[in-house]
Amino acid sequence: MRDLSKDRSLLAINSATVKPWTLEQLVEGCVRAGITGIAPWRDIVQAAGVEKAGNMIRAAGLTVTCYCRAGLFPAADEAGRRAALDDNRRAVDEAAAIGARSLVLIAGGLPKGSKDIAGAWRQVHDGIAALLPHALDAGVPLAIEPLHPMYAADRACVDTLAHANDLCDQLGNGLGLAVDAYHVWWDPDLPRQIARAGKRILTYHVCDWLVPTKDLLLDRGMMGDGIVDIPAIRRLVEAAGYAGPREAEIFSRDNWWKRNGDEDLRTVKKRYATAT
Ligand code: ZN
Repeated sequence: MRDLSKDRSLLAINSATVKPWTLEQLVEGCVRAGITGIAPWRDIVQAAGVEKAGNMIRAAGLTVTCYCRAGLFPAADEAGRRAALDDNRRAVDEAAAIGARSLVLIAGGLPKGSKDIAGAWRQVHDGIAALLPHALDAGVPLAIEPLHPMYAADRACVDTLAHANDLCDQLGNGLGLAVDAYHVWWDPDLPRQIARAGKRILTYHVCDWLVPTKDLLLDRGMMGDGIVDIPAIRRLVEAAGYAGPREAEIFSRDNWWKRNGDEDLRTVKKRYATAT
């Protein structure tokens, strides 16, 4: 069997790992480091200009493993829901223009002042259903990424792979999953839900859970520095049929973002081989 841990082509860098790099810096940095996959966030693609971004990525021969991110469906009123849907359609178009293999969606939290999480879940379901025809037309698979439940109120009311799998069952063709080790490592149902996801797994993100975590959003760890058995999760996703990239996505305001991006990439490459 091929030793995937040695296959550099399966490493991808999420732009959140090398903030504040621009898209141009990300592309050039990955080329310098011999890394062939990137997963840019919308901010740096929009800053570069979408068409120029696509040209830059294609000229460098890079694969866009996923495009981050859209979703955030629930809103307090119809106008808000329509604005979210319009923005999601633009995100699909951007993903298509840069050749992304999928567009990552996070659910969104509760509208301001709301205590109705079941209502938010319904809005997520209906929002994805409304977005799917446009995504299918554009040939961009949607990857719903459940986030850790600490974000349920303000970022993502879909927090488990079970819930994301249910949405895939309900909405069908064109919708899959993003598995992020950081968000799902704690789940006792993880092996069963990854097996259930099977070929629906469109992308796989890695970073580590630090103890203590000093910031709920911006203190993620380099693989190997925390308590997640990341190789065990890789074995689960591979056993489910996923053979795509492992994408390093490390939000780290007070540590890695303060360092040199090239140094970050060197460390990611080393840890990719030993800790993912
Ligand atoms: Zn992620």
